[in-house]
Formats: sequence, structure tokens, C-alpha cells
Amino acid sequence: MQTVDVGELAVSAYRTVAPDWIIDALGTVAERLRGARVLHLSATPYGGGVSELLRSAIPLYRDLGVHATWKIISGEPAFFAATKKLHNALQGAPSPLTPAERAVYEETARRNAAELTEDGLRDWDFVFVHDPQPAAIRSVVDRTRAKWVWRCHIDTSEPQPEAWDYVAKFVDGYDATVFTLAAFVPRSLPAERADIIPPAIDPLSPKNLSLDDRTAHAVLNWIGIDPDRPLITQVSRFDPWKDPLGVIEAYRLVRDEVPGLQLALVGSMALDDPEAWEVYRAITDASRADPEVHVFTNLTGVGNVEVNAFQRTSKAMVQKSIREGFGLVVSEALWKNTPVVAGRAGGIPLQVADGSGGVLVDSPEECARELSALLADHARAAALGASGHQRVRRHFLIPRLVLDELTLLDGLAHGDPPGSLMTRHGTRDPVCGLSLVPGDASFTADRDGVRHRFCSAGCRDDFLATARKGRS
Ligand code: UDP
Repeated sequence: MQTVDVGELAVSAYRTVAPDWIIDALGTVAERLRGARVLHLSATPYGGGVSELLRSAIPLYRDLGVHATWKIISGEPAFFAATKKLHNALQGAPSPLTPAERAVYEETARRNAAELTEDGLRDWDFVFVHDPQPAAIRSVVDRTRAKWVWRCHIDTSEPQPEAWDYVAKFVDGYDATVFTLAAFVPRSLPAERADIIPPAIDPLSPKNLSLDDRTAHAVLNWIGIDPDRPLITQVSRFDPWKDPLGVIEAYRLVRDEVPGLQLALVGSMALDDPEAWEVYRAITDASRADPEVHVFTNLTGVGNVEVNAFQRTSKAMVQKSIREGFGLVVSEALWKNTPVVAGRAGGIPLQVADGSGGVLVDSPEECARELSALLADHARAAALGASGHQRVRRHFLIPRLVLDELTLLDGLAHGDPPGSLMTRHGTRDPVCGLSLVPGDASFTADRDGVRHRFCSAGCRDDFLATARKGRS
């Protein structure tokens, strides 16, 4: 099994960018876990949000004295074709796995479990399994003293029922399950047994670190973008759920109103995503006739620094997802003070709560209208970008994610039942599960003599609406 070589990071470096209370709390919880051994298992070392997270989280665990390792499961193309289908079905697509695809999935799990056992599975105190691809491994390992956590990054709020029942029988054997949003916990899983941890971005990674305009413009110029003309960009895997064709449709509606407008579609090809080439072909077919639509991939050298330059230089970023686990790209853009026009899907509304940072849309037409409005109003675009930056700083930077994960592991080590994260250490928003700045009372509501605190007016209003419904 491949171990991913990650670099070194120092938690102390994040003091300059992340809230102090998070850095302080990290030190405290890590003290209790010092020397613990944590294995993270995922399906691909590059492409997509999970690899982004692990690439930064693993070195931070290590800097805190926790022995963390990231390994990649192996599988044949037939396995990845099956798991992509399973991924889609868990997000609501109508086709569950066939018996033959289940056989490939389970056989691959057995092979990976055997490799893991050979590599010394008994050494681990905790195993974090990311997403459905490696989920079945837990059910076929022989002996393990580790606590196992299944970390689901996708929107499983309305899964195809057969697909979820299939995965649920593997998930049953885990000590804890973690979802990005409470709304993603499938109905058959008791909501109070699930833990909620939204993802986060690394503000110090090459993708997000500060880049001056001159350098950003030079990078874009070099790959054929004119930084002096208006630019809108979507950065995402080539995946139908990200609706790249909808972005092209929206761009076509906007281009007549904005002279010189350019659209960039920046997409990556991940190891575990065989569907990407089909989507790539559909995009290039749809955009061939328009020289102002530019399509880039990681395979032609558009990497982290280029994505950074796109997210800084674009007048607005688009993320027109129809289904979305979280959409790290939204926080990445907001961190750079760039406003987003994004699909009302999955974890995106949590990032732009109360309208900070962006506008939510439900169709290409609405996307086009909002883009036109933003491109015409620089002051509003700047104000949105600034409010988005503040929200990301408070809630969506990587030290907060590591704090939540270590707090979860600390709870498991002390025998807490699954779903206890909400009540451990500090205060969390009871609606979205975000950890809150100690003492911050910006959004509160009193119910049955208890004062609840929230990350946003949106979460407070949802809480009050649910309470009213409960009473009526
Ligand atoms: N990404 C990238 N290059 C690309 C496309 C995507 O570096 O061409 C990165 C993007 O910046 C983000 C991650 O891949 O960090 C995608 O994460 P997100 O949560 O937005 O979506 P996912 O792919 O996990 O569904």
C-alpha cells in the first residue's frame, strides 16, 4: 500500500493567519494524544478535496506530536469505475452497483485489508477511512485494536436507497462516522450517533498563500489569459455534478454585456475518477467555437500556483455545483477576497452563510444574472469578498479541522459514544456543528432556559424555525 510522502509544517506558523483560540486549543488536545498513531486511508493522493485536506493535515498532526500516516488503497480500473458509480448513487444518481461490481468492490477491500495487516495494522490506535472507496476494508480486517472512523465527504442526504443500504452495512462496524453537515446524515443512521466536521483550507499552501498581483498576472499571461480583461473561472474536477456545461451556458449569457470577458474552466483528473475524460470531451466540444473559453487541466501543468492566480485575478469565481460535498474551492476563492457565484448545494451555503462572500444560484440563467451584476459593481464585489475572507478565517482554516479531528479522537480514546463531538470542549453551533469562538455572542437564541450560540443568522433562524415546528 502506497504511503504518501508529505512535507513538514509547523502549527506555530498558522498563528499569523488563524484565530489564536484555535491554535491554543490545538496544543491542549494534542497534549492528551501525544504519541498516538493515526492512519488515514483514502483512494487518491491527488485531485479533489480529500487529498487537499490530508496533504496539509498530516504534517500538522505530526508537528503536534501525533504519529500520523496517509496511505492510498490500490485498485484496478474496474474498482474505480464501480466506486465512482457508488459515489454518484450515494449522491442520489439512480444506479446502484450490480452484483459483479459489488464483487469487485469487496474483493478489492479484502486485498487492501490483507496488505494493511501485513504492513502492521496492529500498530495503529486510530484509522480514519475517507469516503466510500475504502469503506469496506473495516469489515474484513481480522484483528484490530484501533478505533475506526468513517469520514464521509460527499452529500449523502438523499442517497439512492439500495446504494446506501449497501454501504451502511460496512459503516455499521465503525466506532464513529463523520459527515460534513448534519443534513448529510442519511435517514437510516441515527443522527445523534454521527459527528459533524466541515472541511477547511490551508492558508499557507502554495494554492492559498499570498501572491502579489504582478506575479499572479504573469502566471496567467504565460498560459494564455489576458489578466487586464475581465475573467471568470470555475475550478473543479471534471464531474457532471459540478455542472461545467451550465457554467458555459451562463458565460454565454453574460459575454454580450461584458466586452472582452474570458471564461476559464480549470479541472483536474483524479486517479479514482474515470468519468472525468468524458466530461472533459463534452466541455471542449461545447466551447470549441469560442476562443475566449479556456480549458485547463493538471495534466497540462496547471497546478496549485496557477489555481491561486486564477482565484486571485478573476472578477468572480463560479462554482455552479448541483451536488457538492463541501466545495473547498469556495473557501479558497473567499480567502483571496474574491466573491463567488455558486450553486445552492451541499456545503456551499454554509461557507457563504448570511450572504458573506457570495451569491447562491439555482440555474444557469440566475448564475448569469448574478455574474453580470457583480461584474458591474466593483464596490459590492469587494465588500462581498472581504466578508467572505472573514468568515473563512473564523471557520474554514485547516487548524480548526485538525482541532475537530483530534478532539474526536480524544473522545473516542476516553470511551465517548459516537456523536459526542458536539458536546466536547467549547461551544458548537447546534445547527451546522461549527466550533465557535469562545465567548462570541454575535448570534444567540434562548430556548427552554438555555442560551444557544450560532455561527450565523442563517443557522439561528433554522434553529428557531425547527423549534417552532416541534412545538406546533
Ligand atoms: N483542484 C485543483 N485543480 C483543478 C481542480 C481542482 O487543484 O484543476 C483542487 C481545488 O483547488 C480544491 C480541490 O481540488 O482544493 C477540490 O475540492 P472541492 O472540495 O472543491 O471538490 P471535490 O473535488 O472534493 O469534489
